[in-house]
Amino acid sequence: MTIQQAYGAGRFGLSFELFPPKTSQGKVNLFRHVERLNAFRPSYMTCTYGAGGSTQDATLEIVSRVYQEFDLPVATHLTCVGRTTDQLRAYLSEARSRGIENVVALRGDPPEGADTFCPVRGGLSYANELVALIRADFPEFGIAVGGYPETHPEAPSRAVDLENLKRKVETGANVVITQLFYDNDAFIRFRDRCREIGIGVPIVPGLLPVLAFAQIQRIASLCGARLPEELVQALQSAGDDQEAQRKIGVAFSIRQVEALLEAGIPGLHFYVLNRSEAIEQVLRAVSLPGR
Ligand code: FAD
Repeated sequence: MTIQQAYGAGRFGLSFELFPPKTSQGKVNLFRHVERLNAFRPSYMTCTYGAGGSTQDATLEIVSRVYQEFDLPVATHLTCVGRTTDQLRAYLSEARSRGIENVVALRGDPPEGADTFCPVRGGLSYANELVALIRADFPEFGIAVGGYPETHPEAPSRAVDLENLKRKVETGANVVITQLFYDNDAFIRFRDRCREIGIGVPIVPGLLPVLAFAQIQRIASLCGARLPEELVQALQSAGDDQEAQRKIGVAFSIRQVEALLEAGIPGLHFYVLNRSEAIEQVLRAVSLPGR
């Protein structure tokens, strides 16, 4: 199944994003969480590529296992980092031979310490070029791309960032999955602006329930996501109590999902960070359409 089929009339796309664990025990734990998340009948699962120093072979291994063991549609993330176009094609061929039908096509981040992204010789500079490569040589793949409700940190302006997103869609992306955010108004403004400039594909909010205050401050500042004052105050009031912080994060996430459902979203994409408990609590508390 290509991922665009997860969205549309009478369908609500629920997806979960995993990352490849570094150890064999990490893999055992991950698949316990995958099993639990599978109970929510997701439309598909994805696995990150190269993020946080993970190896790229590990991505294919994880998505192949999810596909085979759970009979679930999957998408492999793929970035332009450190890869020539020939290497990108080889990866896509291998993915196709394993039955993987979808790609989350990304540029990737500059390496640690560098301010700007620099392609390798014979590589690609922007995600739209990767979308073009996939459309030209692997036209059957479903393609999702990243979108930024609070604007990509390197973009010179919101308008330019949106035009760059539009280019990815015009080149052939089928779905936009957003960067994580906690400010629903920012998402709704972003979605409305996308529609105004002619981006017509499903725009799927990417959510990460807060598990710990320190962790989310770090992640949000890296992504350029604003933490609403009420959330910050509530988390501060919990002091060092990790369990209280987690409960506040889950309660906020439930309210966030409910408000997004009212705003008419086509689906939800959860950044799982390989821990399912908080997401399970959120999904048990809300009523997703068509499920
Ligand atoms: P692009 O769309 O190429 O945009 C990057 C910047 O360049 C933006 O500022 C944009 O405005 C600008 N731009 C885009 N096209 C052009 C153009 N043609 N000319 C000039 N400027 C342009 N990272 C990983 O390493 N591995 C992952 O698995 C991963 N998964 C992700 C999943 C999602 C859903 C999201 C939202 C992000 C993910 N990331 C991942 C992070 C991502 O790689 C970074 O956010 C990266 O900095 C930008 O990637 P992009 O694909 O959005 O880039």
